Amino acid sequence: MRVLSFSVVIGGTKCNAACPFCVSRMTAPPRRALNPNWFAFKKAVQAALDAGAWGVMFTGKGEPTEYPDLITQYLRMLGTIGIHLGKVRRTIPNTIYSLFGKPQFDFLPFAFADLQTNGINIPQQRGLLKKWHRLGLSTVCISLAHWNDAENWSMMRHHTVKPMNIWQNVGILKDLGYLTRLNFTAMRRGVETIEDVEIVIALCRKYGVDQLTIRDVATPDDKDSRNPQVTQYVKDHRINLEPELREYMKEAGSPAVMLLSHGATVHYHHGISFSVNNCLTTSQNPDELRQLISWPDGALTPDWKYDLRLL
Ligand code: SF4
Repeated sequence: MRVLSFSVVIGGTKCNAACPFCVSRMTAPPRRALNPNWFAFKKAVQAALDAGAWGVMFTGKGEPTEYPDLITQYLRMLGTIGIHLGKVRRTIPNTIYSLFGKPQFDFLPFAFADLQTNGINIPQQRGLLKKWHRLGLSTVCISLAHWNDAENWSMMRHHTVKPMNIWQNVGILKDLGYLTRLNFTAMRRGVETIEDVEIVIALCRKYGVDQLTIRDVATPDDKDSRNPQVTQYVKDHRINLEPELREYMKEAGSPAVMLLSHGATVHYHHGISFSVNNCLTTSQNPDELRQLISWPDGALTPDWKYDLRLL
């Protein structure tokens, strides 16, 4: 069995936004724990690495950066596991590293370590982001509904008095050395047309965004959804931009350079990595899982929709 990605759920459902299309509220209930089950986490990391996962994604059933201490703990634990597995070499003792404020670990056991966030906390967590980068976090992915700050703020219903500045946040992350990815959820009122996509691409090029993902808003089947209200909102706002995006890539002469088995394609387009992706789908290959999900209580599950426990 091959696994494409290892997802780590940080904390509980706390979030500083209230998106009416929140996929978290529709999918499997959160498996909370006061403290992460580290024994099970170590087993989960081993399982993901043995199955060939390239990357780890820190995500949440809420907003992961609302639990900053947990992010630090998970990164430290991953570095420690890497040392034990012989995948991470510690050339200088930790005490010396911490004296000079240098990284405790040169690498994590995974090639890529991504943090998924709505971006609201980025300006006030600049110091923490610097620390997380030193602990091996490589990419920050900001989830957005609109390219305009005020529109994005009203669509995601941020609990803030004024909108965050999307492009300033990209600048902060780039200054800290992160690879940046913007994830846009395509729906009515937001990224709706190819003209909107072109505006987003132009902005990403202007501000030096490395990776851009656009995916249609999604909902599980009615029988699998935990929240009829959110499901109805998604049904009222969903669009089918994906086929148009694929056609647009073809016409632009930007063929897929990577094809993932759950249907996502990655294109090199005008200097950025552009991914046409989809949500809540599974791999078409029965010998492959799109992700393994590690929960705070120690559960390991293969899918966001079903509470199917492997560990
Ligand atoms: S930011 Fe994410 S977790 Fe928070 S409400 Fe929006 S979709 Fe849900």
